[in-house]
Amino acid sequence: MQQRFIGKYALVTGASAGIGEAIAVRLAQEGASVVINYSRNDSGAADTAEQVKRAHSEGGFNDARVLIHKADVSNEASVTAMFEAVLGAWGRLDVMINNAGIQKPAPSEESMTADFDRILGVNLRGCYLCSREAIKHFLSRPGGGAIVNNSSVHEIIPKPQYLFYSISKGGMENLTKTLALEYADRDIRVNAVGPGAIVTPINMSWINDPKAKAVVESHIPMGRAGESAEIAAVFAFLASDEASYITGQTLFACGGLTLFPEFRTTWSS
Ligand code: NAP
Repeated sequence: MQQRFIGKYALVTGASAGIGEAIAVRLAQEGASVVINYSRNDSGAADTAEQVKRAHSEGGFNDARVLIHKADVSNEASVTAMFEAVLGAWGRLDVMINNAGIQKPAPSEESMTADFDRILGVNLRGCYLCSREAIKHFLSRPGGGAIVNNSSVHEIIPKPQYLFYSISKGGMENLTKTLALEYADRDIRVNAVGPGAIVTPINMSWINDPKAKAVVESHIPMGRAGESAEIAAVFAFLASDEASYITGQTLFACGGLTLFPEFRTTWSS
């Protein structure tokens, strides 16, 4: 394991489960102090914190720290309070990971504005609010910072019956690019990761159902779903100085899902 985050401070939203949990642990394994944000799952957040502590201790990172902060990222007052608490405690933040996200299926003609507000609120407004507060801090002292957003293959691939989710990830692409351009000359990089189908609680509908899982995997060129740790590795790269010349990009980690898999055979010729 590399040690790219010794002495660095990172905030990971939605770190009580799934990909966010894996990102928090990966950054800790590389030496980062980590804030674990979440909104409801107290035991999940506590479990992530234990894993982070274990990673610090196994890596010999004696100065690395961990904080748990419960806050709904869609709520502006909660987000500003979170930054006050984190910066009050640590005085520093170097890496902002906007991972928190939700989805809910519905035929679009029956979808509800309350769900529009909730899903866009968490997935896009939350990303905007945390990015804004992180950038304010990055600009306030030398050294800049890195923001990495958790997008999706549905940033570019439409997802019928998940209209609000698709809109949120499409919006995230432009949020990423616009902030990247605006702050490119001030040592702040903004990128995104676009995962495909990953084994996490958000995908319970097929993970434990062998038939449904086989259907999911039949659509993926590499023939399998991804693991959270594989996605966390991409976040760690983009957040690290190894990606020092990369900004405004979405790196798809999706087993080939963005390669138009329907064209695997020559049916169109
Ligand atoms: P997950 O296992 O359901 O985890 C979602 C996380 O977000 C949880 O920690 C949850 O914490 C947190 N969260 C939800 N609402 C929140 C809020 N209002 N404020 C703060 N935290 C909140 O989902 P996942 O699969 O790891 O997904 C994480 C991200 O990856 C999402 O942005 C998702 O769109 C993206 N993604 C996932 C996949 C996939 O296949 N899994 C594919 C592409 C993209 P609480 O339960 O404590 O609220």
